[in-house]
Amino acid sequence: MEELEINKDKFICPTCKKKQEWNTTCKLCGSDISQMQNLASNYLRLQRNLRKNLQSGNWRNAEYIAQQLTFIAPTPLNKKILKFLKSHIFN
Ligand SMILES: [Zn+2]
Repeated sequence: MEELEINKDKFICPTCKKKQEWNTTCKLCGSDISQMQNLASNYLRLQRNLRKNLQSGNWRNAEYIAQQLTFIAPTPLNKKILKFLKSHIFN
């Protein structure tokens, strides 16, 4: 499964666009970027949970997690997984 990669050398501040290492505060403009770190950590946790639920056949949990992943990052893969789960779960 495709995963969101967090490259610590390529983090870009959304405010000033400075490339830098992950920190809680941007070294150039001082923006608080801790929320982005939390979001990235949550995303990775959700991906791991999605994989576990898919492997164990917990489709409803997988669908719920896929919805959250798609909300955070509407990538083609996330949308595809969510669409698949929605079309294969009997309500
Ligand atoms: Zn900045």
